[in-house]
Parts: sequence; C-alpha cells; structure tokens
Amino acid sequence: MTDVLTAKQRRLNMSHIRGKDTKPEMLIRRGLHARGLRYRLHDRKLPGRPDLVFAKYHTAVFIHGCFWHSHGCRLSKLPATHQDFWKKKLEGNAARDRRAMHALESAGWRVLTIWECAVRGPGRLDDTTVLDRAAHYIREDRRGSLMEIAATSGLSSLL
Ligand SMILES: [Zn+2]
Repeated sequence: MTDVLTAKQRRLNMSHIRGKDTKPEMLIRRGLHARGLRYRLHDRKLPGRPDLVFAKYHTAVFIHGCFWHSHGCRLSKLPATHQDFWKKKLEGNAARDRRAMHALESAGWRVLTIWECAVRGPGRLDDTTVLDRAAHYIREDRRGSLMEIAATSGLSSLL
C-alpha cells in the first residue's frame, strides 16, 4: 500500500517538474518541422529564452506547462499543501513570463504561447488543429502581435 501511494506521489511530482523536451513540446516541435518550419531551440539571447525561435518570421514560441506558468486552467490546480508558497512562486513565474513577452513584443517579435492544455488533458484540441493554427500564425507577416492557443479559449489573440 505504501508503495502504491509513493508511486502516485512520484508521478504527481514528475508531472510538475519544469523541463525541456516535455511531451507537448516534442509534439509541437515535430509538427511544425513537418510543416516546413525551421527553428532554433531555447535561445538564451532573447528575453524569457523562448522554446522555439523562428528567426525568418520574427516569431518566438513558448510552450508553457500550465502548472508552472499559472495558466488558471484545470491542469494548473495548486497542490493541497503549502498553497501560499506555491501561489507566490507561480505568480512570480507568470509575472516573469509577461515581462519577457512584452520585451519581445517591443523588440518587434511576434509571440505565440501554446499552453500544455491545448494538447493535453480533457479539454485538449485536435493536434492537427493546434499545429495548423500555430504554423499559420508563424507565417503571417504582422509585427508585434501576441497570440495564444489553449484548451479553453481555442485560439485567441491577446491584442
Ligand atoms: Zn492550461
């Protein structure tokens, strides 16, 4: 019994580990590559170190885990314990995300945020829909715009 609970707890912890090369990220990377788009990964020279950078289209893409980036959807529920700690930490992350997004926007970059819940969880969208919309946005020629794709809103412009 103890082992079962431990394994469950471990899985929960693992799902909350922030990291590169997560499943949603790999799906997006493969899908956009298959649509003929070429990118750089985790560019440290840009604010917020975007997950994907499409230099040719002046577009930066963030693939955000809903928990770590405080999306507010059902995948981003706080753990039952230490809620004050988590709230403060995750709000800090979200504030940093906003600063990075606006710094990129001011520098003429377009910024697309793809939330984990767009491709994972009960409200997820069809993978092809997410990838087609992302590819379409990347190829548009409109400077300084912001866009996000998520389970709840589908596709929405932040402007
Ligand atoms: Zn979400």
